Amino acid sequence: MSADLERRIPIIRERGQHSVFCGLTGIIWLHRKIQDAFFLIIGSRTCAHLMQSAAGVMIFAEPRFGTAIIEERDLAGMADANEELDRVVGRLLERRPDIRMLFLVGSCPSEVIKLDLSRAAERLSQHYSPGVRILNYTGSGIETTFTQGEDSCLSALVPELETRPAGSNQQLLVVGTLADIVEDQFTRLFKAMGIEQVDYLPSRRSDTLPSVGENTVFLLAQPFLGETARALEKRGAKYLSAPFPLGVEGTTGWLKAAATAFDVDEARFDEVTQPGIARAKKSLETYIPQLTGKRLFMFPDSQLEIPLARFLHREVGMELLEIGTPYLHKGHLEHELAWLPEDVQLSEGQDVDKQLDRCRAAKPDVVVCGLGQANPLEAEGITTKWSIELVFSPIQGYDQAADLAELFARPLLRRQKLKV
Ligand code: SF4
Repeated sequence: MSADLERRIPIIRERGQHSVFCGLTGIIWLHRKIQDAFFLIIGSRTCAHLMQSAAGVMIFAEPRFGTAIIEERDLAGMADANEELDRVVGRLLERRPDIRMLFLVGSCPSEVIKLDLSRAAERLSQHYSPGVRILNYTGSGIETTFTQGEDSCLSALVPELETRPAGSNQQLLVVGTLADIVEDQFTRLFKAMGIEQVDYLPSRRSDTLPSVGENTVFLLAQPFLGETARALEKRGAKYLSAPFPLGVEGTTGWLKAAATAFDVDEARFDEVTQPGIARAKKSLETYIPQLTGKRLFMFPDSQLEIPLARFLHREVGMELLEIGTPYLHKGHLEHELAWLPEDVQLSEGQDVDKQLDRCRAAKPDVVVCGLGQANPLEAEGITTKWSIELVFSPIQGYDQAADLAELFARPLLRRQKLKV
């Protein structure tokens, strides 16, 4: 963290007990995005239960994720876990010929028994390629946040991307899972600016993965993709520094970074973006009276906290108390941090009990937190918003700005109705 930022905004750093979901959770939105992929968690019953409860109603009739359960005899080293894994994969691929990409997802138990999933993926790939690509990444971790699962998954995809031939047109790569509807809106805006070669990582199908190379510039659509960004840079791609596309300002700044890289002239940029800006500002008007002056406290969970806080403060007038984030990536959050007010309290990491005490003392109107904290806080009469919902929902871009504000207005309204 730069000394400048430290001077401007005080930061509490904590490394104590914290309460987060692990990276397996990312499968919930990743399996909906990559439509011919399957995520096989090599884990315990605990992992399976986590997925069932976190995914809830979102499980498909024919789900594209499952858990190969590690039983006690595996943990005791009495069974050959590799043989069992090969059997499970064989059965799965026979039953599901629609699967074109299989992710073996590591967990705490697979790490405990030191099951080498990268070797397993290599071995199985030899057997099943070219029909099915088999990759691996880890979703485990007590020291991680739930959105890191996406970062690990996308970094596992980077080596799979073809190299763009030297001398080919400059390509814009948008990195991070976006809802299809949001992706389509952005593609239309980029095309209207004259940016023709736009690709997304992850792509909707594994056989349409983008290529990457020296002539790739990339925008992050999500702030939790540090590893993926590093992996892309190693392949020669250039990161476009930008705010995140939440709200009017964030979306405009994000689009502008691409426009500048592709020499889109000012007039054309304005012409393309003005209708969206006007629509978003108009639709936000409904929520400004409901949210202005409402006091917000955010627990560190999704890593979306800082861009969200910036939007809620600058575009709908919420007052920021403490904004916690699991990690502060100075480089990727540079624009966002510059837009925060000086009196906000930032915190990085967590000591959950201390933070709960600060939260109660601050008397917020709404708290953004993980599922583990939401119920107890609600029971104390504090209005909460689940941070995980913000990762599942289409919230990026001009046409989703009001939906994003509504996600914060709704729990306040519900609380008001309960009081009445
Ligand atoms: Fe729990 Fe680890 Fe399984 Fe996640 S991967 S559900 S933290 S056991």
